[in-house]
Amino acid sequence: MLPTDTGADTRADVAVVGTGVIGLATAWEAARRGLRVHLVGPCSGAHQGQASRAAGAMLAPFSEVAASDSPERVALEVGERVAARNLYDAWLPSLREATGRPLALTPGMWVVATTGGRGDARELDAIADAALGHGHVAERHDPGEVPGLSPARSCTAHGALWLPGEATVDSGELMAALTDALHAHAHVEWTDAEATGLRPSDGGGLTVTCAGAPGTPEVAAPRVVLAVGVGLTDLVAGSGELDLALPPMLAGKGVSALLRDVPVELPAAVRTPMRDFACGMHLVPRADGTVYLGATNRLSPSAAVRFPLVMELADLLREAGEELSTKLYEGQLVGTRVGYRPFTLDHLPLVGPTADPRVLIASGTYRNGMLLAPRLAEMIADHLTLDPVAAHPFDPTRPITPHALPETLERWLPELVDLFLPPSGTPTPMQGVLADLLHQSLRGLAADGDHPRGAEVRRTWQQAPVPEALWSLLVTYLR
Ligand SMILES: Cc1cc2nc3c(=O)[nH]c(=O)nc-3n(C[C@H](O)[C@H](O)[C@H](O)COP(=O)(O)OP(=O)(O)OC[C@H]3O[C@@H](n4cnc5c(N)ncnc54)[C@H](O)[C@@H]3O)c2cc1C
Repeated sequence: MLPTDTGADTRADVAVVGTGVIGLATAWEAARRGLRVHLVGPCSGAHQGQASRAAGAMLAPFSEVAASDSPERVALEVGERVAARNLYDAWLPSLREATGRPLALTPGMWVVATTGGRGDARELDAIADAALGHGHVAERHDPGEVPGLSPARSCTAHGALWLPGEATVDSGELMAALTDALHAHAHVEWTDAEATGLRPSDGGGLTVTCAGAPGTPEVAAPRVVLAVGVGLTDLVAGSGELDLALPPMLAGKGVSALLRDVPVELPAAVRTPMRDFACGMHLVPRADGTVYLGATNRLSPSAAVRFPLVMELADLLREAGEELSTKLYEGQLVGTRVGYRPFTLDHLPLVGPTADPRVLIASGTYRNGMLLAPRLAEMIADHLTLDPVAAHPFDPTRPITPHALPETLERWLPELVDLFLPPSGTPTPMQGVLADLLHQSLRGLAADGDHPRGAEVRRTWQQAPVPEALWSLLVTYLR
């Protein structure tokens, strides 16, 4: 444990950089444990690009399981997600009490198997097994019993699972409540600015430098928590005097939409299983009567684009209409959101001290950050206040092995093909032909040292050796 007073010119015990759900939850938990917290990051504005306000936010310990996940992976991830879901039962009431905001969960989740997915029946089995294996209920139903479900004639729903242990929360309301709670807390100071970097300060602590007009304050603290989502790469680049030895943080661009006056009764969220490298299509009812529609997921080389591409929005609306409800088309589109999900090469978060023990990280939550927020906040607060800290699987200094391209192609090419030729019932011979063609071409190119596009495919892969990069490989190949 580092001493909390290193002589740095500061009143804060810890600076938390980043004001998405992870930064806000962490700051609040640290303040509730009696630490003086200086929060750095945007407070006002539209927050486009931020993952948290673009999220559904499904609290989904089980329905995020994929049939292809290994049993070890399922045990680890579901265990952490169940722990996070359990924390919500005390976390939301304490936020309600601190702010007076009527924050509430909408309980339950319908997961439907449709012909729009490849092997959805198997996916439902894997989800049910995960829930039952953790002592939770997973009820099989006829799809006709799912409120709000009315897919297009081109798509048949052939199975449904009701998960009463899952829930949804309004991400905008949650962020507003956390913001209010932090403004009201006597131990919290908030600098509404972008951090540009960290440097050592006299006395052994750290200084966080901020962008803005001359005179923008610098923030000094003995320890700093980086909770900047996909902003990590830039912030580390601006902190050249520190050796943080952090693994790469990738960005999954997600687009979601908000609809009003949709003529469906939707008492609980309805979703498909995972597909197309994303969390499937989902409709989430909001307390104000609007319906949240999510979400796309594409690996993105940068987080600069703050608006949806027309084709992203078109895919989202078409797929949700076809698989879940054509009634959506009668609603009004009142808003769209773009958010970049932070994720690591092994798809697990990074939580705790980096190679420099003054700098901690809380990020890489990928598709589950809204759910994991109270859990990560607790872990970081433990690292700040306890010694020793209970072991957890998200140590940022763990070895992370990149995925190998041949195995990734073998396993994930069918998903890529589904993006071009969406399955509808029995896979067509064309899907098999296209998968074989892509397989031979990409494998051949990646192995061919002389082919100019081969070098480019390998370079693209080296930058992001994850299944989500297959789309980029294909674009590189076709270019
Ligand atoms: C479309 C979509 C749907 C999702 N659905 C779900 C879901 O249903 N359930 C679920 O659990 N999760 C969901 N997620 C994932 C979840 O939203 C993320 O895992 C989580 O929000 C990540 O939180 P974060 O605070 O790490 O990052 P962000 O929310 O992106 O916040 C990072 C913050 O850091 C700030 N920042 C960046 N750089 C700096 C800097 N240099 N200085 C100061 N501040 C900086 C940014 O402005 C931003 O506010 C979804 C994500 C998306 C995009």
